[in-house]
Amino acid sequence: MTVSNDITLAEEIKGEILYSAPMARYTSFGVGGTVDFLVFPADLEDLQKTLRWCRRQKLAHFILGNGTNLLVRDGGVRGMAISLSRGFGGITELERGEKDRLIHAGAGESLGRLVEFSQEKSLTGMEWAAGIPGTVGGALFMNAGAFRGEMKDDLQSLQLMDPEGKVIEKGKEELSFSYRSLELKRGWIILGGKFRLRSGNQQAIRSRMEEILQKRAAKQPLHLPSAGSVFRNPSRGVAAGKLIEEVGLKGTRLRDAQISEKHANFILNLGKARARDILTLAEWAKEKVFEEKGVKLEMEIQIIGEDE
Ligand SMILES: Cc1cc2nc3c(=O)[nH]c(=O)nc-3n(C[C@H](O)[C@H](O)[C@H](O)COP(=O)(O)OP(=O)(O)OC[C@H]3O[C@@H](n4cnc5c(N)ncnc54)[C@H](O)[C@@H]3O)c2cc1C
Repeated sequence: MTVSNDITLAEEIKGEILYSAPMARYTSFGVGGTVDFLVFPADLEDLQKTLRWCRRQKLAHFILGNGTNLLVRDGGVRGMAISLSRGFGGITELERGEKDRLIHAGAGESLGRLVEFSQEKSLTGMEWAAGIPGTVGGALFMNAGAFRGEMKDDLQSLQLMDPEGKVIEKGKEELSFSYRSLELKRGWIILGGKFRLRSGNQQAIRSRMEEILQKRAAKQPLHLPSAGSVFRNPSRGVAAGKLIEEVGLKGTRLRDAQISEKHANFILNLGKARARDILTLAEWAKEKVFEEKGVKLEMEIQIIGEDE
């Protein structure tokens, strides 16, 4: 990868830069080639400088959360991955009302920490997210959801950065969320979200979280690398996993990639899977479900990078 060497980004920012970083290490699937640059901006100024540098170098970039909904192809990603995990975490209480509290969570914070924080403060609203392994930013971008809850539900506003580096706050009413998606203009970055959570009973909150964690463990193959559900559910009440199971593909294996025996919407990395094996299995599932059920499955996981 050639970039013009006027001034290196490493001289401009306080945060860390890794070169040719193996994306398998930064994604839950554990597959995929390297990304040319992986940058961990230390603060807003670093992030602005990083965006400016990418613009100057005409370098493509994307935001990496915890990589739990991401499949990186075997040839890796040309350009830059920007991780907000080091300078953009933290959860703070902004306002305390009689019945609710306004909480700010940074995009780089783990979603699990937000769920725990809510429980510690006896706040109800986030229990549904117990066990989802991403960051707050990734979960907002995906409008992650489970057990009838979604990221957008208790959200009040988002802090965003536009491609020029300007910080903008947008209220929920100005944003367009839908099933597992937030419509965000290309190049915009989620910096954090404000959530209004209601006061509740701490024991009841903890019990609900534990109930959800148990249901997850009973239904999902959590002992092997995956990215959660590969496909979106095609409509309310119709589960993609059920369709894949009905067309007989549960347990199908291609080298070290396998459609889970426990939950057919999960594809697992049994050890040395390649992205192309995972994608081929997904393609088989898509084709067979369409042929036999007439239903077009759509990917939920985000796929990036190039083939080898
Ligand atoms: C075992 C397992 C169980 C799961 N269960 C669920 C579930 O129940 N429900 C569910 O919805 N998901 C589930 N997932 C999928 C995944 O955990 C969620 O989608 C999660 O919210 C992704 O967050 P992340 O930080 O890992 O995002 P990443 O995978 O890193 O990124 C996902 C997308 O978001 C973009 N993005 C990330 N951060 C930002 C940001 N700050 N600004 C702009 N764009 C950004 C990325 O560019 C990418 O396009 C599961 C995954 C696993 C492995």
